[in-house]
Amino acid sequence: MTEHSLEITPAEVIPDFLVGEIQSRLAYVDEAILKASIPADASHIVLSLAGDVSPEQETRIEEKVQRVVASMVQGTLKPKVKVLEDHLERPVPNQDDPMEALTAAGAVFREGNGLYTLGPLLTRLVAYFESRFRALAASFDAQPHRFPTLISARDLDRVNYFRAFPHTLTFAAHLREDLDVINDFSETARWELGELKTSPGSFAGVEALLSPAVCYHLYFSLADKELPGGSLAATATGSCFRYESYNLKSLERLWDFTMQEVIFVGDKDFVLTNRAAGRERMSEFFGELGLAYRVESANDPFFIGEYSQQTAFQSAFELKYEIRARIPHRDGTLAIGSYNYHQNFFGRNLNIRLPDGSPAHTGCVAFGLERTAYAFLAQFGLEPEKWPRTVQENW
Ligand code: 5GP
Ligand code: ZN
Repeated sequence: MTEHSLEITPAEVIPDFLVGEIQSRLAYVDEAILKASIPADASHIVLSLAGDVSPEQETRIEEKVQRVVASMVQGTLKPKVKVLEDHLERPVPNQDDPMEALTAAGAVFREGNGLYTLGPLLTRLVAYFESRFRALAASFDAQPHRFPTLISARDLDRVNYFRAFPHTLTFAAHLREDLDVINDFSETARWELGELKTSPGSFAGVEALLSPAVCYHLYFSLADKELPGGSLAATATGSCFRYESYNLKSLERLWDFTMQEVIFVGDKDFVLTNRAAGRERMSEFFGELGLAYRVESANDPFFIGEYSQQTAFQSAFELKYEIRARIPHRDGTLAIGSYNYHQNFFGRNLNIRLPDGSPAHTGCVAFGLERTAYAFLAQFGLEPEKWPRTVQENW
């Protein structure tokens, strides 16, 4: 199967601030697309297609691409990026790609698309950051929780997750409870051409998914009742799953990653005050570390139909800020964490009530642990002697 490329001239002019977003959404346009790229001037889109694509299929792909571009361009306003902290130019000692050195040293092993095994160096580094984030949680007296890796489809439906982020979902499938189906599976299931081949209709209906976030579990546990005491702070670490097709890349974008969160539930003032305090306390830690980063307003990666409306809403109300660490070798940045405010979205949809009967507000401070460790190594390299003293002494 030889690859070939298809060049498409978009009917709408793609503004520069949408180039990256559109490029990543093209992964979900057609299974025949192996890669998409948009040059900086956004004059055209280049798709790498699988070799067996017919001309009719190419026409359909082009039509779908035009549809994606049109719906993301129309009605999407250029976001006003608000910068709360800018330490991007802090000097850091390393300029090399850490994945090359990690792979060469056997410190990571790629098990599959977006799946990485971490060896002792990264495991200890992740544990170090986890302990520092745990200290942040303790400073709010946030109570610890453990949440399941699976998440209920019923509850995700209650918070409109399927509308907002359908493209990144990962389903927990199991076989139908039927002797013939199970026998057939055990005899015929095989790995072929990059996937598990099974007989059609082998899987039961979906009851649970692999969890895409941590704080949702807390909100589900608080649903349909009054919030005891009117406010709470909680913390948890858990596995999160976001399927990102060919956008999955090194430790920067994993299908299966670990998120650690400090979560606030209460009235608006309680949530916003704590979110701001969380950022200030983290700023101290990142300063001590000497990390090069910036905190700026951001949006969640909504799917096409919801994109323009939801992102405009998030920007207008400053609902999300990201901690973007510098990645020197590619002269870019990577979100290692976020400060989020959901207004009373979960309170309304899940009926979490404050003592006065109004819906609770929620917010969270969330860190991607693998990304934090990766960004640290991208800036400081793999030799602990070159690391900041505080990490050398405490990791
Ligand atoms: P958010 O809820 O803001 O989307 O995610 C919180 C944090 O989780 C992000 O800032 C990032 O550090 C981490 N994260 C989100 N998506 C991915 C991903 O695809 N791969 C990895 N490794 N981390 C992610
Ligand atoms: Zn959260």
